[in-house]
Formats: sequence, structure tokens, C-alpha cells
Amino acid sequence: MRLTVPHMGMLHIAYTRVLRKNGVDMVPPPKATIKTLNLGVKHSPEYACLPFKINIGNMIEALDAGADAILMPGGYGPCRFGYYGIIQEQILRELGYTFKMSTTDNPDRLSDMIDTIRDISSIKNRFDGYRVFFLILMRMAALDRAEALYHYYKPREINTGESDAALKQAVLTIDLADSYAKLLSAAGNVKKLFREVRIDRGFRPLRVGVLGEIFVTIDPFANLSIEKKLGEMRVEVVRGVWLSDWLNDRFRFKPFRRNQTRLSTKIAKGYLDYPSGGESIETVGKTLMFHKKGIDGVLHIMPFTCMPELVASAVIHRISKDRDYPVLSMIFDEHVSEANMFTRLEAFVDLLERRKCEGISRN
Ligand code: SF4
Repeated sequence: MRLTVPHMGMLHIAYTRVLRKNGVDMVPPPKATIKTLNLGVKHSPEYACLPFKINIGNMIEALDAGADAILMPGGYGPCRFGYYGIIQEQILRELGYTFKMSTTDNPDRLSDMIDTIRDISSIKNRFDGYRVFFLILMRMAALDRAEALYHYYKPREINTGESDAALKQAVLTIDLADSYAKLLSAAGNVKKLFREVRIDRGFRPLRVGVLGEIFVTIDPFANLSIEKKLGEMRVEVVRGVWLSDWLNDRFRFKPFRRNQTRLSTKIAKGYLDYPSGGESIETVGKTLMFHKKGIDGVLHIMPFTCMPELVASAVIHRISKDRDYPVLSMIFDEHVSEANMFTRLEAFVDLLERRKCEGISRN
């Protein structure tokens, strides 16, 4: 079995090396490009959301590269994600591909995830299944921490590109850490890598909260590297959605980290009392949280036709009006124009700058 899993941010780095070490013949899809997107668009229903289309493109490229099994998270809930796997399998079979499709029936249940790991690898012992799964989760958390450091250092760097080089090296360091002991020492090395970046310590950048649907928020290909662009504009990104938080809310592997869904649900009360799927409740709860923390504004990222984020978008624009708090929603699909996106982003950052200056002169 030559297994592939569609891309989602840096998730492939968290699992590929560890699963290979445990007997899985991994064929990760090539890095997504415009060709991937075009393939996905060509073979998806027009109304499908952007992550679905990128997934299909990933799957076709991986099958063409020799994969013969696909692992796709499944599940249930108010949005379309739950039946992605079934529709994608039908589309690929109609295209003539022969492969085995595994969907995790309930990605929220630890035992289902462990069974999936045991099904695809040479691991037969349940304890080893847990050990490998939690190592993958911790590698994911380490990758997220490295990205958060990048968000801090990028707008403050003195020599352009130093933080990007540090992030690249950090990702490699974490990738090579394929045991708990190595991961522990990698964490220290990653901090050291960023401490070597020369920064302007007196500079106080604008801070923008980045929220939205998890796939487009964390995947640079899907969001046209919008966080990097903000960093280049000397704006600090304070991201509110992390894959390791999503995993921790379900599998509790970070004992000191609060459950972010529950926290957001509590804060969102009065504006959105029940989650409407996807990350809607996090978007609303964390917009209120960022406002309280003095973050200068919120950038809300969502795929076109994403029902949960459409609900959240309406609610956060009411918050914006009620509290005079800048919020910009950006919608991504295959027609998105890079120039248009960045012009809007620049206008938003200009607005935040002006508000900040006016705030300073009023005080
Ligand atoms: S949250 Fe939105 S974009 Fe993501 S799968 Fe659901 S409908 Fe699609």
C-alpha cells in the first residue's frame, strides 16, 4: 500500500517521517501549485468549497505519482466536510483511478484515530499506536510554535529574509525529530534559531488577528501566503486558529492549554450562542477576545460558499459596528486575484495605522 493524505498547512511534515519509520509507504502529494488547483477545479462540482478542490487536485497528483491508497479525515457535523471523502472517492473512481480509500469515521474519537494508525502501519500493539499518534500531535504543536515565533520575528527583523530562513531551518529541525527525546531537544534549537534573528526591539508593530476557516487560514497556498505578506508589511500576525489547538481540543495532549472551542463558545455568548460548524464559534469568540486584548483589527479568511464562516462573518461585522472595531473579511476561491487581495489588505493596514496614530495623538 502506497499511502497519500491531502495537504493541509504543515500537517504532512508532522506525520510523514514518523509513519515511514513505522512501516507506512508514504507518498505525500507534491506541493500544491496552480496546476493542482486547476485539476481540482476541473473535476469538482462548481459550488464545492476551495479546500475540497485543492484536496482533489492533491489526490490526482499523488495517484499519478504512484499512490494507491488515500487517507481522508471524515466525520459528521453541520458543514460539508463530513462527506468530502465519499464524494471525492466517487469522482476519482469515475476518472478511472483504482485505489483504496480510508476515511476516519469519527476524527474526534481517539480510539478511531488509533485504529486508523494501526490499519495503515506495521503497528499492531495498541500502546504503540498511542505512542506514535501522540508523537505526531506533538510534532504538529512544535511546528505551530515555530510559526508563531515567525509571526513575532518577521515584522521586527532588521535583515530582510532572516526570519524566513529561521523558519525553514526550524521546520527541518522538527521534521528530523522522530522520537520524543529528539523533539524535546529540537524545541530548544528552534528557539535558538529565532533568537539569532536580528530584530528592532524598540519597534511596536501593528497587530492583526487572523481568524477563519481552518484550511484556508493555515494553508499558504490557499490564502496566497497572506500572513507572510502581512509580515513583509511589518504587521505582526496574531493567529487565532491552529491545527494543534484543533487537535488538542479533541485529544488533550497539551495539559496546560485551555480547550479553545469551549473558551470561544463562552466568550461568543450573546453574539453566537451555538456553533454553526467549522470554526464559526472560534471566529466570533476570538474576535471579541482580540478586541479586549487590544489587537488592532481582525482579518477574517474564508472560502467562497463556506456556510459556517458566512454566519460568522455576519456576526463579526455586527461586533465591528457595535464596538467600532476594524474587521476585514476576505473570501478565497479559484478566481481570487492576488492584486485585488493585496490592495484590500494594504488599505486595511493603512486604516489601522491611521487609527493607531490618531489614538496616540488623542492620548
Ligand atoms: S468549514 Fe467551510 S470551507 Fe471548510 S469544509 Fe466546511 S463548508 Fe467547506
